[in-house]
Amino acid sequence: MEDANVMTCPYLTEVTMVFCGASPQKKLIPTDRISTASACEGDGFNGCALYREALSRALHTIEELETELKEVHGKKGVQS
Ligand code: SF4
Repeated sequence: MEDANVMTCPYLTEVTMVFCGASPQKKLIPTDRISTASACEGDGFNGCALYREALSRALHTIEELETELKEVHGKKGVQS
């Protein structure tokens, strides 16, 4: 609970930060420093190399899981 009579340091500030989940480095960026022309904040994210790499990895993982599932179902089909 905050005490209204306690003074905090005048340099203490609160900012909202964001980071790119596709980047291997989790560098926090204050939201007020992101340009309105940024690919991250608009439709341009489809052209971002990091986005495309992350999407490619995710699709590859899905394909591997689907292959594994087909193999498991194939083995079950042979046994029954
Ligand atoms: S647009 Fe690219 S850099 Fe921006 S958040 Fe998406 S993946 Fe990260």
